[in-house]
Amino acid sequence: GKVLVTGANGYIAVWVVKHLLEHGFSVRGTVRRDSSIPYLKETFKAYGDKLEFVVVPDITKDGAFDEAVKGVDAIEHTASPFHMRAKHPQEMIVPAVEGTLSVLRSALAHANDTVKRVVVTASCASVITAQPTPRTFSEADWNELSPRMCEERGADASNTDMYRASKTLAERAAWRFAEENKDKLRFDVAVLNPPFVWGPFIHEVDKPENLNQSMLDWYDTVVKGTRPEEQLTSVSSCFVDVRDLGLAHTLALEKEEAGGERIIVSSGQWNWQDWINAARKVEPSFPPGKTSYNQKEAVYLVNYDTSKCARILGLQLRGLDEVAADMVKQFKERGWVQ
Ligand code: NDP
Repeated sequence: GKVLVTGANGYIAVWVVKHLLEHGFSVRGTVRRDSSIPYLKETFKAYGDKLEFVVVPDITKDGAFDEAVKGVDAIEHTASPFHMRAKHPQEMIVPAVEGTLSVLRSALAHANDTVKRVVVTASCASVITAQPTPRTFSEADWNELSPRMCEERGADASNTDMYRASKTLAERAAWRFAEENKDKLRFDVAVLNPPFVWGPFIHEVDKPENLNQSMLDWYDTVVKGTRPEEQLTSVSSCFVDVRDLGLAHTLALEKEEAGGERIIVSSGQWNWQDWINAARKVEPSFPPGKTSYNQKEAVYLVNYDTSKCARILGLQLRGLDEVAADMVKQFKERGWVQ
């Protein structure tokens, strides 16, 4: 079968493409610019014409994906803004929501006979709300707070809320579309909700400053040591390895039971000091961070119930030490470690 991957040049998407190709699928990737294509062609040259590209300059335009969806058997929708530079929530929300609806509308209008499933790359951003005490979240939870903060505060909302609201509203829009069109749709929708995604990158990055948001945060904190010390143990969450998440996107197509499901794909908990300590086992010259830290006393505020992922996708997820070691290795190979 042939799978359409939107935003095919992104950090996560290139791993999605790789796993799809390895599982025997053909892939049609969408990118915003022609200039994103040569690096991908080179990366996957062994697959020849099993990989092709379509340029979709503006995913928010009505009918943007009308041509791209034609003849595909499934869709992986990953394209969505993830950065902390927006001046207004709409900068994040419009491409996230309209991009998602645009893919679904084009699939219904032009590929309803061939597409069997649309997998949406959502986020735990649409699951969690910040809270002062430890809590385990599941697929039953929705981040109601970030959209409300953006509504109330507009341009004064935090960039975190702007991003989280964009993911929440985009996922809601996908589920609403599936519900409203259930009589017409011949495909189903599946949603993957990863927490922070880390691990080696295989997309095109010329220098550390141009890493995607999650990798940039890690590089700045662990390699450069620029994060304020009080955040190193107070900021905590969960993570998943990018390679595992790429595989999860393929499994979400292959496993029948994934249809109609929202699935949290999360490996384990972290705080920044845990990453620093793991990285320093491989590269002791990195800044030590908070040397008084004792992991046995760490408080992790966020946990996820991952039983659905285990049951439906059943994949092994890499742990923190392995992910950290592989990232350090790559940064060193690139010459990005002083
Ligand atoms: P990247 O920034 O590497 O990739 C984002 C992709 O989306 C790129 O292809 C980018 O295209 C495209 N894109 C961004 N904004 C727009 C826009 N306005 N119009 C069209 N395309 C756009 O990030 P990731 O790979 O990390 O993110 C991929 C997906 O995973 C996103 O949906 C993100 O929300 C989600 N996610 C990421 C997590 C993480 O920790 N990295 C955690 C949870 C979810 P271009 O290169 O042209 O800008």
